[in-house]
Amino acid sequence: MRTLFAAALIACSSVAFTGRNRMLLYSDSEITSLSNESYNELMSTTKVSDNKAQAAMIQEVGERLTGALTKYLASKGEQSLLDDITWSFKLVQDDQVNAFCMPGGQVVFYEGIMPLCDTPDLVAVVMGHEIAHALARHGNERMSQQALTSIVGSVTGQVVEQKTSQNGRILFEAAFAVGSEYGYLLPYSRKHESEADEIGLYIMAIAGYDIEQAPVLWKRMSENESQYVPEFMSTHPSHANRIKNLQKHMDEARKIAAEIQ
Ligand SMILES: [Zn+2]
Repeated sequence: MRTLFAAALIACSSVAFTGRNRMLLYSDSEITSLSNESYNELMSTTKVSDNKAQAAMIQEVGERLTGALTKYLASKGEQSLLDDITWSFKLVQDDQVNAFCMPGGQVVFYEGIMPLCDTPDLVAVVMGHEIAHALARHGNERMSQQALTSIVGSVTGQVVEQKTSQNGRILFEAAFAVGSEYGYLLPYSRKHESEADEIGLYIMAIAGYDIEQAPVLWKRMSENESQYVPEFMSTHPSHANRIKNLQKHMDEARKIAAEIQ
């Protein structure tokens, strides 16, 4: 068990912005290659939206948020956090109220979410949240937790290494449920959702978007409760809690934004 312990120590790192410690058993490049594969598979059967104006807004907001994030991380000497992420921003034909970001950086908005985020600031709330999942390595963390749960206690560290890489594809597909009845991405835990809300707010602030629009979006979402939404809402914290959580981080977001002026 000593090797497993060592492997766990090596894999320990902290989340950008929040500093929360977590354990990642997969390399970024491994996750990215699984992510790219799944994304290509997915897009081969998905129709891109014909709505040019909305698609352009998604693209513009995505570029502005990730551009500002890249500059900000570079100013902190942390640009390597984005080394294995290649951002892309697509709007697809689907009526569900949803959006997701693959761990490799591929952001997908569904047409069905657009009536709720019909301004660049509101798009930035959703987009900031989604790219925060990728930046924070939430997919890797979830896969690592699943891998550890299934193997801990019975094997040595070497087997952990072997097993995790053998099971990488299976765990990735289980975590992201590509092509399954659930949609493209299974819900994250509440902890990951709250963290994505917080980091998303900071990224919005850095890019100069109106962070006050975050609670506005969640209010709109709550008025839309009847829709089944896999990634974006189903395990998300209740809207009231989520708005409270966002309010808690507004000052910090303003501070971060002021830092870079
Ligand atoms: Zn989320």
